[in-house]
Amino acid sequence: MKKVTKMAALMLAMAMMTTALTACGGDEKGSSTATDTTVTNSQTQDSTPADAEPTESATQEAAPEADNTLTFGTNAEFPPFEFVTGNGVIDQYDGIDIAIAKQIAEKNNMTPAIENMEFASLLVALQNGQIDAAIAGMTVTDERKEEADFSIPYYTATQVMIVREDSDITSAADLADKKICVIEGYTGEICVKDMGYPYEAFKKGTDAIMELVNGKCDVVVLDSATSQKYISDNEGLKIVEDPSAFESEEYAIAVKKGNTELLDKINTAIDAMLTDGTIAELGAQYTEGLSAE
Ligand code: GLN
Repeated sequence: MKKVTKMAALMLAMAMMTTALTACGGDEKGSSTATDTTVTNSQTQDSTPADAEPTESATQEAAPEADNTLTFGTNAEFPPFEFVTGNGVIDQYDGIDIAIAKQIAEKNNMTPAIENMEFASLLVALQNGQIDAAIAGMTVTDERKEEADFSIPYYTATQVMIVREDSDITSAADLADKKICVIEGYTGEICVKDMGYPYEAFKKGTDAIMELVNGKCDVVVLDSATSQKYISDNEGLKIVEDPSAFESEEYAIAVKKGNTELLDKINTAIDAMLTDGTIAELGAQYTEGLSAE
């Protein structure tokens, strides 16, 4: 419970920050802290209680649809948000996002399902109807907003630099002559590309981290909470933050463009989970024990 209180304080701090829809650059929007935290409920879009179905029909029970499954696409390579485990929350999948997805489905009397795929395939899978929604620690960017509609944000993160403990990198400016690793299609890649530095992109975070551990690259640019997970799991690594170079990012759930019916349901559920502290608690639960350095 102590953690939750701490998280609440962080949430308040974050409420005072301006968040951006792009991942990088912009000094004036630089965050004052690089600590991950859930976003506050400042963007309440509607006040429908979580369990109140929109008044579509007078009957209490919704008529059973042909398919009552709510299928979320994810890329289960992004702990603590999504990962594969022996005994997951939905099938073999677990993490903050998976727990959120489960609750969104349940609040809407639907059965949650997960489709695991490459991160870069998620928005295409939405477009062709393979999945109903994408939940993948996905940062809202202007570019992605052209391809999908996004829910209200549920988590605020930032990019950080993972380096070996003996590294002389102290800021993003030090990346100029370093061998940089990123993960393909992630906002970390977009940031490094925007900075104009050469880099190597890997399909999986774990592969990029192995390059770093083995001395084949000098730095991995990656989302903050996931980076903390990797430095907890691997000896000899540390995190370097540079809030003036990496803006805060907001994670949200994507749906197919124009699917306002589903988006409304998702927003109502997220709104309730932000308000009642569920998402803050999940954040605390899944990051417990992760060291900050
Ligand atoms: N937040 C990053 C992005 O949106 C990484 C997401 C992920 O790997 N699941 O690109």
